[in-house]
Amino acid sequence: MSNIIDGKALSLSLKEQMKERIVELEAQYGRKPCLAVIIVGDNPSSRSYVRGKIKAAEFVGMDSRLIELPEDISEQDLLAKIAEINAESAVDGLLVQLPLPGHINEDRVIDAIDIAKDVDGFHPQNVAKLWLGRPCILPCTPKGIVAMIDSTGVNISGKKAVVVGRSNIVGKPVAKLLLDRNATVTIAHSRTADLPAVCREADVLVAAVGRPEMITADMVKPGAIVIDVGINRIPCIKEDGSEGSRLVGDVQFPGVSEVAGWITPVPGGVGPMTITMLMQNTIECFLARMA
Ligand code: NDP
Repeated sequence: MSNIIDGKALSLSLKEQMKERIVELEAQYGRKPCLAVIIVGDNPSSRSYVRGKIKAAEFVGMDSRLIELPEDISEQDLLAKIAEINAESAVDGLLVQLPLPGHINEDRVIDAIDIAKDVDGFHPQNVAKLWLGRPCILPCTPKGIVAMIDSTGVNISGKKAVVVGRSNIVGKPVAKLLLDRNATVTIAHSRTADLPAVCREADVLVAAVGRPEMITADMVKPGAIVIDVGINRIPCIKEDGSEGSRLVGDVQFPGVSEVAGWITPVPGGVGPMTITMLMQNTIECFLARMA
């Protein structure tokens, strides 16, 4: 049975440290870090993610601002709102919850965020700095994944890492961060030939696909570190016999946990760490703006 990398517990301990740090920062600078979150429309998943982010900000004791905008807001009005928050000196971090309604161009929205307040690390200038190896704001999910790998104490230098998924927000940046840890990195995707064989090579396997339980025990090298990024809701029958749903990752936990050396659960793995890294990024933006 694998060791569980408990993202919830790791998050809690990091947030406790941040709580103390924020008290010190307020004493030193006369105000707390402040995170602004823009949400457009009523997408239930987005609402739930945003609630989690505001709750975490409250937990660590930073200021937060939730800006709720209607589904039919024009792109121009959204960009004007972003410009307004960019100009507010008391706001240190700004994120716009994605996805946005189809009539709004997400690239233009991301490009409009002040790079000094880009707590998601999605601005093209931040992405360029990441790939150039310059100091930058790291995207939250990849940053959380690497923190979880670090927490195992396993040195991954020279080891083989396979990232399944090549999205801009998870797959590609996590591959770069693993490369920075001197892993030998392969990025796999929907066109990869013989994915099971590619995955079996991995000392570190990161699944960021969005397909429920697609990574099975036969795809995992014994002893590997397995990081499950996926968040998938699947139907289930509840204890009272009624129909419901439950969250599963991209990794079939019961089987894979018999083979892997380390594994992250879903829920309670990468999800909480993503939010915690957002808090850390907001503190970093605050400090950079105060310098
Ligand atoms: P995307 O849909 O943007 O990317 C999915 C990737 O998986 C693509 O690169 C795609 O390949 C690849 N893929 C799809 N099917 C297969 C397959 N059969 N075999 C191999 N590769 C495949 O997803 P995201 O990166 O945004 O998210 C991935 C998962 O992580 C989702 O479940 C999402 O909800 C979750 N997530 C969780 C977060 C957290 O905080 N825990 C944060 C962000 C995401 P191709 O490029 O060829 O199409």
